[in-house]
Amino acid sequence: MSTNPAARPPVRSTVHGYPRIGPDRELKRASESYWKGTTTAAELDAVAAELRKGVYAQLREAGVDDLPSNTFSYYDHVLDTAVLFDLVPSRFTSPAQAGDRDEQLRRYFALARGVQGATPLEMTKWFDTNYHYLVPELSPSTRPRLVGDKPVAEFREAAEAGFQTRPVLVGPLTFLMLAKAADDAPEGWEPIELLDQLLDAYAKLLGDLKAAGATEVQLDEPILATDEGRAAVGRLERVYQRLGSLTERPSLLVSTYFGSIGAAALRVLKDSPVEAVGLDLVTDSEGVADLAAVSGLGSTRLVAGLVDGRNVWRTDLPAAVAELGTLLALSDELTVSTSCSLLHVPIDLDAETSLAPELRGALAFAKQKAKEVALLGRVLTEGEDAEFDAARAQNPSFTDARVRARLDALGPDAYERPEERGAPTDITLTTTTIGSFPQTPELRRARAAHRRGELPTEEYDQILRAEIDRVIALQEEIGLDVLVHGEPERNDMVQYFAEQLEGYATTENGWVQSYGSRCVRPPILFGDVSRPEPMTVEWITYAQSRTDKPVKGMLTGPVTMLAWSFVRTDQPLGETARQVGLALRDEVADLEKAGIRHIQVDEAALRELLPLRGEQRQAYLDWAVNSFRLATSGVAATTTIHTHMCYSEFNQIVGGIEALDADVTSVEAARSRMEVVEALGRRGYKRGIGPGVYDIHSPRVPSVEEIEASLRLAASHIDAGNLWANPDCGLKTRGYEETEQALRNMVEAARRVRADL
Ligand code: GLN
Ligand code: ZN
Repeated sequence: MSTNPAARPPVRSTVHGYPRIGPDRELKRASESYWKGTTTAAELDAVAAELRKGVYAQLREAGVDDLPSNTFSYYDHVLDTAVLFDLVPSRFTSPAQAGDRDEQLRRYFALARGVQGATPLEMTKWFDTNYHYLVPELSPSTRPRLVGDKPVAEFREAAEAGFQTRPVLVGPLTFLMLAKAADDAPEGWEPIELLDQLLDAYAKLLGDLKAAGATEVQLDEPILATDEGRAAVGRLERVYQRLGSLTERPSLLVSTYFGSIGAAALRVLKDSPVEAVGLDLVTDSEGVADLAAVSGLGSTRLVAGLVDGRNVWRTDLPAAVAELGTLLALSDELTVSTSCSLLHVPIDLDAETSLAPELRGALAFAKQKAKEVALLGRVLTEGEDAEFDAARAQNPSFTDARVRARLDALGPDAYERPEERGAPTDITLTTTTIGSFPQTPELRRARAAHRRGELPTEEYDQILRAEIDRVIALQEEIGLDVLVHGEPERNDMVQYFAEQLEGYATTENGWVQSYGSRCVRPPILFGDVSRPEPMTVEWITYAQSRTDKPVKGMLTGPVTMLAWSFVRTDQPLGETARQVGLALRDEVADLEKAGIRHIQVDEAALRELLPLRGEQRQAYLDWAVNSFRLATSGVAATTTIHTHMCYSEFNQIVGGIEALDADVTSVEAARSRMEVVEALGRRGYKRGIGPGVYDIHSPRVPSVEEIEASLRLAASHIDAGNLWANPDCGLKTRGYEETEQALRNMVEAARRVRADL
């Protein structure tokens, strides 16, 4: 190392945030039993306090110098911020009028989950992660004011337990730019208009934190990694000049993540009175160039996010030390941190007992990442030591020469289907569903028992076959045209395949919060991917053997497999997607060989992975489309390829839908009045489109007339010969009763519209 440690202040270590669910998902259990009424508010609060203390203790034990607080949340930190500043729609009572603790909590959870008479806040993805936040609804009559004390209370609680912490807040710019205008706000009004009032409320909070003894506060401004955020440098300047000029305040760390913020924003922050700036130096590589472009941060402390907060790989420590060497020349004071909050990774690798040792050696979860930042801080301050030598990651490579050779041998024709193809069916307005049928409690119980080894495979398979029989018989009786097997064998649309593909591992305990009490366990895609054996053929062909109608085979597409997994970073994502595409191509071929004429490759997450910045989007769409086409282009012109996507807001992606070149694409459309079809119609789209004709996210049964109206609207935008009728997503979360009735109404509506064509 080239630096002279003695001549500089020590390099400190921190993390931006930590998982809140607890090592055993304690928060999930505690909140769910509170919702059910089995436990009291006091019991829930007690669990939460224990969890917070556990986090501080874990970070301290890992050797992290500066501990964050207020990273805990009962549901979501954006919701916490809205409640803190009284930014709650009028259909909920104001938290300012809250009564006892139980009432406060009920109101809080009502905002997140809804109650009789008040629909919850909308939930959406937190940038390009799989975490979801609640979208604040603001209007010109909203009056931001500080009505809560969560950050102060958690700071004090930590202090009393012996931990000096740095409270973390959602920054005002990010908060307002993520909020939406309430339905009653005038056309064209935007939440950002509340900025000055909100800054007054933040000023009050900073004063309170200072009075409570906080010496530093972290304000998270990830919005700066997006195009909209980058375009808001003027506002950024206003915010941090204002907050920075307060006389009674702790020192401020403005923290950014999920991408670089650009030199313009960096210069604004450097020239502002804020004491520290956090940069994500993992997600894209422009951070160092931006720092150089502003001639370094000078006396503003750089909080360097060098340990990946979103992925599960160990940090390449020697490379990080080398990068820190560069960074030392660009700021007088340095703290090593994670690239973002560790909220997005599982808590503890030590909780995994069955990972292959070579893979395990390459992994780090939150606790291990905390140790990495601590180690980096120490090495930079004191020089390399034995522990550092021992911690050098031996990143093994999990390559498979056969996979690489096969990919290399593919010519351009592997991605192309013939232009002329047979009509998918001889029906106008073919009716179908998206794949899954309701997963009954019996089915879930059987799967759990089978997993625990308490139900023999033969009996479990028998239960699955009986379920398929029932789903097929039901669809025939309802009169659907293209049937599905119902996906009863799948625990999850990604995990099911990850468990069967080479190059993928699954964890036992690697839970990550998706929203509220819902946690997911993303598989880990660590090596070259291939498919040793057919994954779905047995179930699909069994279903096909029970009916004369066509049964649609069901697969999860490459982009979605990547989006809902932790993915290797040693090669471009597009290359990994191509490997998954090739494995799926083998499955598609086997389904076709087994006589299956309709094959659906779901790309539920195609839009999710869309880069935050426009300039990176085309390159993404290119590889995304490429991998889908590799998976699906091996079939005959008479085989129908379907795809499905779970959103309707797709203006950024409509070109992508065309480029996939599927014969039939089903999308969500019920809630957006068939906008999708209109957009495709305008572009002269000539393949099949199945706009979801009813919303499956609610148990409400749509009437025949309602569905009929949607179909007629769709038929006004596009040639009815290309139109399909289907619900807007899979039915696995619904009950049988409403599902049956809704599908009957859909079939009847299609029949009526067809009769008039
Ligand atoms: N085929 C899947 C299902 O029906 C698709 C799910 C999804 O789009 N999220 O469940
Ligand atoms: Zn869907």
